[in-house]
Amino acid sequence: MINSLKCIIFDFDNTLVKSNIDFPKMKVEMARLTTKFGLEFGSEEEIPHKYTAGNIIDKAESFDKRNGTILVPELWEIVEEFERKGMENITIDQDVLTTLDSIMKLEIESALLTNNACNPTMEVLTKFNMTNYFSLIVAREDVTKMKPDKEGIELILSKMGLQPDEVLFVGDSWIDAKAANEAKVSFILIRNDLLDAQKYGITIWKHIRSMVELIQILSEN
Ligand SMILES: [Mg+2]
Repeated sequence: MINSLKCIIFDFDNTLVKSNIDFPKMKVEMARLTTKFGLEFGSEEEIPHKYTAGNIIDKAESFDKRNGTILVPELWEIVEEFERKGMENITIDQDVLTTLDSIMKLEIESALLTNNACNPTMEVLTKFNMTNYFSLIVAREDVTKMKPDKEGIELILSKMGLQPDEVLFVGDSWIDAKAANEAKVSFILIRNDLLDAQKYGITIWKHIRSMVELIQILSEN
């Protein structure tokens, strides 16, 4: 598998950078808005585990169509507000740039797949001098369905002319794993020791605790 490796796709938040987007709170706030209009997502404690932001938006979209409401743009405003706040204090681990550099030297390309909006993502990449490492960046505007859907990965494969077995996907969340599994791309989980693979029905090929371990995997195989 590693012999044929041509590209590593990375998730963004909490994989390459440590943003402080409060995803649980964001989803609860989204559900609070929809509830006012009669679209319920159940108890607030369960919402963060049961739904992705994409799920909530999909359901709101159908709801809007049926009822003539305009929930979706307001939901995106909530998402963007949480993203803005989370990106304000963004940090990067020391080993991220050196790892991206090593990957480049191995003549393996890197790509980025994020559910975040394009502009704030590009701002952060520029801030940390990371833009040059990526052959392709796919943000949420580039797809109709966000992760956990496989669309973003398949878009990268087709744009770069790659097969699933020539690619690895590195991410910190079950939505990354699900997208990789569906696209038949091997998935490497970074950190997130408590992720329950069985609960989400996902397959994790390797589990690493830092970006440096990625280079170890590449050289071992
Ligand atoms: Mg992430």
